[in-house]
Parts: sequence; structure tokens; C-alpha cells
Amino acid sequence: ALPVLAIVGRPNVGKSTLVNRVLGRREAVVEDVPGVTRDRVRYETEWAGRRFVVVDTGGWEHDAKGLAARVAEQAEMAIELADAVLFVVDGQVGATATDEAVVRLLRKTKKPVILAANKVDDTRGELEAASLWSLGLGQPYPVSALHGRGSGDLLDAVLAAL
Ligand code: GDP
Ligand code: MG
Repeated sequence: ALPVLAIVGRPNVGKSTLVNRVLGRREAVVEDVPGVTRDRVRYETEWAGRRFVVVDTGGWEHDAKGLAARVAEQAEMAIELADAVLFVVDGQVGATATDEAVVRLLRKTKKPVILAANKVDDTRGELEAASLWSLGLGQPYPVSALHGRGSGDLLDAVLAAL
């Protein structure tokens, strides 16, 4: 079976845009409205000649459980099903309390975790992205899913982990 990469993170950090970037085509559902992606969408793709499966998560509505619980639930499920987890935070916002809940889960897993700071559209954002070292998940990869900036380095790191 192909190795599986799960993409987790809060709504609106750009997970689906990043998936589109990885796929090289616009297919994952991207919306300005958080919670638009359908629950877990699987895509087969390849990078540098290696095929793997990308799972986009986060297609739930916020219900009584609340956002943090939902995001954590998705992360737990993703860790379970994946060979490696790509954790996406908004590099313009930094790590929020909701992100921290996911970080606690990710620190516990033995599976490889790659940390992406998305929405780093220019060099200015890179310094802030570096502060995400403090999350204890290793090197933060600054990336702009929208413009493609940094996505090659990120994908190389993903392949090394898969
Ligand atoms: P998801 O909920 O995490 O899947 O986020 P989406 O991929 O649906 O994106 C949410 C919003 O962030 C959309 O308006 C995207 O256009 C925007 N977005 C995604 N990636 C970037 C990026 O690299 N830079 C900027 N400036 N905006 C982005
Ligand atoms: Mg999405």
C-alpha cells in the first residue's frame, strides 16, 4: 500500500490550498468559510517520482463540542491512519490555543510530524515562522500554499519522513 500523509490543523490555515499545491491542480475544496472541506478526502499523488496518498481533514462544522475538541479529534484520527502527519499552522497568526491542543497530541506520537507555517507569502514572515521552533515539533517549514513559496522544501521533508 502507498504511504499516507495526513494534513491536520485548524480551519482556515490553508490545508486544502496546500493539498492543491501538492496535487498540482485545484481539486481539494477551498473556501473562505471555515469547515467547508468534506470530512477526510483522499488523493493519490506523487513528488520526485514517489507516489503517496494525501488525506485532507477538517470538513466538520463546529458543534456543541467546540472547535478545539473537533480539531483535536481530527488530529487523533489522522495520527491513527497516517504514516506521517503534516501539521499546518497559520504563519501570519502563530500558534493559537487550539493549535496547542493538537501540538500536545503530536508530541506524543512516534510517527513523523512535519510542521508547516503557511501563509508566509514573503521573506518578512519567515522570522515569525522561526518562532514555531518553540512548539517542540522540530523545524518549521515556512510555506505559501497560495503562491508555492517553500513548497518544494516542504515536500522534500515530507518524502524524507514517509
Ligand atoms: P483550510 O480550512 O485549512 O482547508 O483552509 P483553505 O485551504 O480552505 O484556505 C482558507 C483561506 O486561506 C482561503 O481564503 C485561502 O485562499 C487562504 N490561504 C491559503 N493558503 C494561503 C497562503 O499561503 N497565503 C495566503 N495569504 N492565504 C492563503
Ligand atoms: Mg479545507
